[in-house]
Amino acid sequence: MDTSVDVAVIGAGAVGLACAARLGRDDKSVVIIERNNGIAREVTSRSSEVLHAGIYYPPNSLKAKLCIEGHRKILERCERQGIGYRRLGKIIVATDDDEIQSLYRLLENGRSAGASGLEIINSKQVRSREPFVRAEAALLSPNTGIVDAHALCRNWLAEAESFGTSLVLRADLVSVEGPGEGYKLSVTEHDGSVFVLKAKAVVNAAGLQSDHVASLFGIDPDSESYRIKPCKGDYFQLDSASGITFNGLVYPVNERSGLGIHVTLDLGGRIRFGPDAEYVDRINFTVDPKKADYFALALKKYIPRIEARFLTPEYAGIRPKLAGPDEGFRDFVIRDESDKGCPGLLNLVGIESPGLTAAPAIADRVAEILASL
Ligand SMILES: Cc1cc2nc3c(=O)[nH]c(=O)nc-3n(C[C@H](O)[C@H](O)[C@H](O)COP(=O)(O)OP(=O)(O)OC[C@H]3O[C@@H](n4cnc5c(N)ncnc54)[C@H](O)[C@@H]3O)c2cc1C
Repeated sequence: MDTSVDVAVIGAGAVGLACAARLGRDDKSVVIIERNNGIAREVTSRSSEVLHAGIYYPPNSLKAKLCIEGHRKILERCERQGIGYRRLGKIIVATDDDEIQSLYRLLENGRSAGASGLEIINSKQVRSREPFVRAEAALLSPNTGIVDAHALCRNWLAEAESFGTSLVLRADLVSVEGPGEGYKLSVTEHDGSVFVLKAKAVVNAAGLQSDHVASLFGIDPDSESYRIKPCKGDYFQLDSASGITFNGLVYPVNERSGLGIHVTLDLGGRIRFGPDAEYVDRINFTVDPKKADYFALALKKYIPRIEARFLTPEYAGIRPKLAGPDEGFRDFVIRDESDKGCPGLLNLVGIESPGLTAAPAIADRVAEILASL
């Protein structure tokens, strides 16, 4: 491995890997530093794997623009490289008049943001798409789909490696010196030894630790509003003996902090419900089986036949949120920190959903910024 490179990418989740592949294409020498013993073991591996259409985010926000752009790029990549995906379509359901008003607001927002193919369907159309769902109306997003996130990440890594990128696993960035001619990054390996990597530029794609990594460069996460507020989401699996089936993704409307406890399918056809949204002080991935009652209650509103006994704890993910409970919308932070005395440092902070969908578009943005420095 080169100990002196153009770009060090901190973190081998979807975002870091997409960035490494993109920067390799630009002829940059790249090393990826990852503290786990494999790629995509944190936020990326605990998502719903949904390719979002960009309905919810304010028009012109990074979340909206990069979601729509990233979605298109991922579909092209999946087609070209044989990565598994399915365009299942999604409905957001309304169960009363107030919720129908919310659907129309979402329709308007999604169209202004550039999401394509959106339409309102009536209760009969909902039932013919999803016989187990009861709703007065729904917003149909035909282009929403699911993807094999791990295959996608492996594909980005393979592309990055084809350009000579090295991935260093079990390697934790612990301190930073610089800037001088770039940065000297001290990285602790699994055996306790430390190596120093020199990099002209650094992409901080450290997910839940992106605020901490920014602080290693002397940036105060609190004064810059980079502090991550971890928000846990649990999933439960549906017992196939329940007899309940779904043909696509089904979401409630009018939820806070997340998209509501919804129905997702994976490429193997397994059905899961979640994630809920619970702000937490520490990272903990256990799913409390007692939550099954609460999940069943939330789901019963639009899936009358659901029972808590059909639900088994599956897994949990943690969102790297910038907005705390009941705070307003926060966009992705994708920022060159030259004006804070850190030229060549790109902080990617608050890359929560739709970060998987947006990853290749985030990578393009990173490449453009680095090319302009
Ligand atoms: C419950 C849940 C559901 C979601 N569903 C969807 C969805 O359906 N669709 C969608 O588009 N998005 C979804 N998302 C969001 C999406 O998963 C994330 O935005 C995306 O995966 C973030 O990727 P990342 O590379 O930024 O983070 P990560 O995958 O967490 O990668 C960051 C990496 O940095 C490493 N790291 C951290 N600190 C250091 C250090 N000091 N040294 C070395 N390595 C370090 C970590 O080990 C980690 O591997 C969901 C997220 C959650 C939590």
